[in-house]
Amino acid sequence: MSKTTRLTVMISYKCNKQQTMKLPILSLLLWLISSTIAIATTPSPVQDDNSFTESDTIQQNGITLIYINKQEGLSVDLSAKLQETFFAVYPKLCKAYNRKSARKVTFVIDPAYDGVAATSDARVVFNPRWFDQHPNDIDVVTHEVMHIVQDYGETNGPWWITEGIADYARFKFGVDNEGAGWKLPDVTETQNYDNSYRVTARFFTWIVQNKNKKFVEKMDKIMREHRYSDAVWVKLTGNSPAELWKEYIANPQI
Ligand SMILES: [Zn+2]
Repeated sequence: MSKTTRLTVMISYKCNKQQTMKLPILSLLLWLISSTIAIATTPSPVQDDNSFTESDTIQQNGITLIYINKQEGLSVDLSAKLQETFFAVYPKLCKAYNRKSARKVTFVIDPAYDGVAATSDARVVFNPRWFDQHPNDIDVVTHEVMHIVQDYGETNGPWWITEGIADYARFKFGVDNEGAGWKLPDVTETQNYDNSYRVTARFFTWIVQNKNKKFVEKMDKIMREHRYSDAVWVKLTGNSPAELWKEYIANPQI
């Protein structure tokens, strides 16, 4: 049985900075605190979770989603889909890859953010305009929350593996890739294994089918434990990625 609790914290709240400016000592203190926070966190996208139109805290089976919406007039359907997709895929990803993943995740719908979505620590920022243009691309959630599960920190492994694994997870656990028209691309001569995202995800799928069923799980763990080296490829598959790629493009069906 799934148990869901929902707490609507505040609606139509705007941080009133002018009031605090009337108190010099308090404002100095706030400045010191905010400076410390700014140093301790990733600077982009900008983190300001104190100005929002809606904030919900939703709990389900021991996992908490803090949902902050900064977009006036955001579709209720989209909010529901983002939250449902999170609770549908995140527990599965934790179970498959990292049972110690964060129990508390924050989603911020931020019209000031220009990319599609970005994840830092256990916080995902989404650009609402992306969903205006691609309303079925809900598995952006699956890709992004996989980054939370990956939790690689300052890993010594290459970024193309990080993104390849996140798209592999989307391919395997996505709730509606078909509806979004999202699929692993056909192989072309101009591709290479380190193209990352879907190209690498397709390559990983082939490796799983032909070389090592647990390749992605093992590579993910190695990346998280900062144990990556070229030798891990040979250990997991018997070959270097370049050798595997040659074999793959000669016989690429999955
Ligand atoms: Zn990514």
